[in-house]
Amino acid sequence: KKITIAIDGFSSTGKSTLAKQLAKALGYVYVDTGAMYRAITLYAMEHGFIVDEHIDTEGLIKRLPEISLQFLFNPTLGYAEIYLNEHNVEHKIRSIEVSNQVSRIAEISQVRAMLVNQQQHMGENKGVVMDGRDIGTVVFPNAELKLFMTASPETRAERRFKELQEKGHKATYDEVLKNVQERDYIDTHRKDSPLKKADDAVEIDNSGLTIGEQYQKVLDMARA
Ligand code: C5P
Repeated sequence: KKITIAIDGFSSTGKSTLAKQLAKALGYVYVDTGAMYRAITLYAMEHGFIVDEHIDTEGLIKRLPEISLQFLFNPTLGYAEIYLNEHNVEHKIRSIEVSNQVSRIAEISQVRAMLVNQQQHMGENKGVVMDGRDIGTVVFPNAELKLFMTASPETRAERRFKELQEKGHKATYDEVLKNVQERDYIDTHRKDSPLKKADDAVEIDNSGLTIGEQYQKVLDMARA
């Protein structure tokens, strides 16, 4: 029987790596909800709704109906890439510039309402692994398996820094660490669905686990 797997946690805790592996092993769909918040942020930046520290929230809210997001499976990569109004933005949304603004865009309740609604539709037939911040608490409070991932800020910054370098993005380790800490703060303190562990989520601190060990542990839980 197909189930819903909700993976939440702080940024760069290895959520997406684990989610992709699980989806592949189980033949499930993987949905990266952070990519959706990032794509809205990219749209806001490209359309002049974010200038320096200022966000034109009202202006952006009016344009939300014009934003279309799609995930298209890339067989070479083995996972789906995100499209913003028909353009593949999978690379652009990972930049440090987008990372520095995304948590502020994710505080806008109209943005959250729109994306949560789309996410619920994507997962309505089960057989989905979804990762984010509010999947087990808000999007799928009835998910059969909920994971909450943590790791120290330094471990996470190190991981994200390496990933950014591999993908050809420019950023220093210090910038990445600062970004990780700022997002943690905003994500846990926002009024609307703050990041927190669901009561029935299994907490996984993966600082000490290898990717393989962690994966095996969770796959056993998913199959149980
Ligand atoms: O997962 P990722 O680090 O790419 O997410 C980027 C940002 O999007 C997070 O720091 C958070 O502010 C926001 N987000 C969210 N709710 C989700 C997924 C991401 O608020 N379900």
